[in-house]
Amino acid sequence: MTSLITSRPEELSYDRQQWRQGYQSQPNEYDYFIDEIEGKVPEALQGTLFRNGPGLLDVQGTPIKHPFDGDGMISAISFLPNGKVHFRNRFVRTEGYIQEQKASKMIYRGVFGTQKPGGWLNNVFDVKVKNIANTNVIYWGKKLLALWEAAEPYRLDPNNLETIGQDYLDGVLTPGDSISAHPCFDPSCELDNGQPCLVNFSIKPGLSSKITIYEFAPDGSLLRRHSHTVPGFSFIHDFAITPHYCLFLQNPVSFNPLPYVLGFKGAGECVNFHPDQPSKLIVIPRTSDEKKVKILEIDSGFIFHHVNAFEEEDNIYLDSICYNSLPQVQPDTDYKETDFDSLDPGQIWRFKIDLDQDTVDKEMLESRCCEFPYVNPNNVGRKYRYLFTGTAHQDQGNAPLQAILKLDLLTGEKQLHSFAPQGYVSEPIFVPKPNASREDQGWVLVMVYDGNKHRSDIVILDGENLEKEAIATLHLKHHIPYGLHGNWTSEVFI
Ligand code: FE
Repeated sequence: MTSLITSRPEELSYDRQQWRQGYQSQPNEYDYFIDEIEGKVPEALQGTLFRNGPGLLDVQGTPIKHPFDGDGMISAISFLPNGKVHFRNRFVRTEGYIQEQKASKMIYRGVFGTQKPGGWLNNVFDVKVKNIANTNVIYWGKKLLALWEAAEPYRLDPNNLETIGQDYLDGVLTPGDSISAHPCFDPSCELDNGQPCLVNFSIKPGLSSKITIYEFAPDGSLLRRHSHTVPGFSFIHDFAITPHYCLFLQNPVSFNPLPYVLGFKGAGECVNFHPDQPSKLIVIPRTSDEKKVKILEIDSGFIFHHVNAFEEEDNIYLDSICYNSLPQVQPDTDYKETDFDSLDPGQIWRFKIDLDQDTVDKEMLESRCCEFPYVNPNNVGRKYRYLFTGTAHQDQGNAPLQAILKLDLLTGEKQLHSFAPQGYVSEPIFVPKPNASREDQGWVLVMVYDGNKHRSDIVILDGENLEKEAIATLHLKHHIPYGLHGNWTSEVFI
């Protein structure tokens, strides 16, 4: 086993002031070839990395309450055949972004607690939602789409990131509909003779929750759509697929909208976690067979993200990042003052689901604090060996994500590439090498905020040997605030 960095939790691996600076707004839009490169960009790495995340942490000087409320800004990092790398970032010109920038003031409340200035009187009964398009960006069916789970996607031109407008997926959605920001890409769909397909879902929460599953062909056309109603309110951010099933984890939460409607709290602050109630695993066949839908209870906990799922013998395995409780958004707290020690770490668990016996067994795969997991895209929904994830520098407790962990699920071997003390990582994107024969043969692309220099780097790590020195570090001329999710496409857009 490779030696891992371990240090006593009381020795902080990061500087709080530097960590906070990563949450500064980036109002500027850039467009340039990256000329400061350490190492060498692999010739075979050609394509475009798109990333999304909140670009503004304030609206014309008024700070937002939670980073999840920030206006979406897309970064495109294009790796050209001539070895050059181009960077571009642009805000998604959502209706709300345009209105607020034009008015030079905050016009909308945010779902995660941002209130318009002026106290509750200025917020009461204002339940207009601003589509901030800030969570993920995908390229599918020749469309570049910025996704936010509470509204419709925004479409952008992949060549220059100009906003084209709201997109209804060729009539699949209607105005007012929403679709999740966490689609799964099935690399080889059994139902479509091995063609890739994109699977996504939407949730209409209420006293019961309607889950709709959508599957799209590579040309963007709808292949399958089916809806299922499950008991109880749902706050479901992500899901997982296998060749035959979609898997959802219904967290034990309730929603009391009154403080939101009355202008005291954001909607996200009205979600209450119930540690005394079980979480529920919802298993829905991709063939829409309602009789085979199963809801199985498991221990209470909270899940944002799943790592992957697969079927083996008559069982389904689901690997997820689990928290003991919802990292609750409190109305009177400042996210920049986060007390990491008081928050549960996200740890990776494996759930083994026996559909004949209706039982679920669980086992911890990784106790380190992890978030933003990623696997080789060719292994989504399949048995897999390696996972990559953002993690804390220390092996215990909660802390900012400063390292990338590679976990070998076959041998238990771990490799860690830490950017501490000055580096803060984003979601690691694994890009398989052309003609790769091994699952970990590929590059891990990470955007790293450098707190010393207050700028961001694009770092290319070797998937087979994560601990070795970075293959290349590409220095941007500025910082990009901590982002959320992104995707790679082998098409080069510039
Ligand atoms: Fe997410």
